Amino acid sequence: MKITELFLSQERTFSFEFFPPKDEISAVDFGINVGQLMRLSPSFVTVTYGAGGSNQHKTFDLVDYLQNRIGLTTVAHYTCVNASRNRIVEDLNHLQTINIENLMLLRGDPPKGEEKFIAPKDGFKYASDLISFVDENYDFAKAGACYVEKHPEAHSFEEDLANLKTKVDAGADFLISQLFFNNSYYFDFVRKARKTGINTRIIPGIIPITAYRQIERFTKMSGTKIPPELAVRLEEHKDNPSKTYQIGVDYTIQQCRELLANGAPGIHFYTLNKSRAAVEIFESL
Ligand SMILES: Cc1cc2nc3c(=O)[nH]c(=O)nc-3n(C[C@H](O)[C@H](O)[C@H](O)COP(=O)(O)OP(=O)(O)OC[C@H]3O[C@@H](n4cnc5c(N)ncnc54)[C@H](O)[C@@H]3O)c2cc1C
Repeated sequence: MKITELFLSQERTFSFEFFPPKDEISAVDFGINVGQLMRLSPSFVTVTYGAGGSNQHKTFDLVDYLQNRIGLTTVAHYTCVNASRNRIVEDLNHLQTINIENLMLLRGDPPKGEEKFIAPKDGFKYASDLISFVDENYDFAKAGACYVEKHPEAHSFEEDLANLKTKVDAGADFLISQLFFNNSYYFDFVRKARKTGINTRIIPGIIPITAYRQIERFTKMSGTKIPPELAVRLEEHKDNPSKTYQIGVDYTIQQCRELLANGAPGIHFYTLNKSRAAVEIFESL
């Protein structure tokens, strides 16, 4: 089912992001975790596409499995990295033949070792160009990414928001945000997006905090800030994994409750292919 159709009957959606497992051992682990998450009947699931342009075929195998074998409404991520128009047509035709109806269309990060994103030959420079191409040539429901604390490369919040408007005008049906920990950024972002004329759903992307080092790495990569009082508590207990886990999960539950109580149209969980925290948080909501 197209997610745009799902929106007609679901005021809020609850969804999970997965990435393709690297090897057979992680595939077994993945199966167990997905099994746990399926009990929660998510509205849809999404599968990332070779960050940095690697292992892209694994995304197609996994979306095929989740959509056709498990029967989940599945969103395939797809990026501009290494993608000429011909390659895009080939890939999207394939996704169509395996019944994928939903895409998350992204520019992608520069491949490993490269600092700046350079548009591939006969490819696209921005996600909005890819979205526009897909809009003109295909019938997928299309999601785009947004950044409540601004994309790290953007010179200003306003410039990033103007670029996001271009993305929505190009045909993005809904948006999923980059992870964040401070809800005030999300509320402020939604208010400003509405003023700019962006009227699509803006689904908050939430990562359950389960390990100190991991969160440190993610915040560094995405430029996301951790509220100081949470940072102090995590730092205090950084050598105690079970305490860090409990602080993180309690925080995320409160964060999700506040988002939903103030009108967020659901939650998209960055699961990192793990189920325990996501199940705990989901069940408490
Ligand atoms: C929900 C979500 C899922 C993701 N999944 C993946 C994944 O599966 N695989 C992966 O590799 N990466 C993924 N990413 C990361 C993403 O690829 C990076 O954040 C990337 O740097 C930007 O992608 P984008 O689609 O937001 O790019 P864009 O929307 O193209 O924006 C990139 C930058 O260019 C600027 N910009 C946009 N349009 C214009 C314009 N017309 N003129 C001038 N400047 C412009 C923007 O302000 C921004 O600074 C994901 C991110 C999110 C939030």
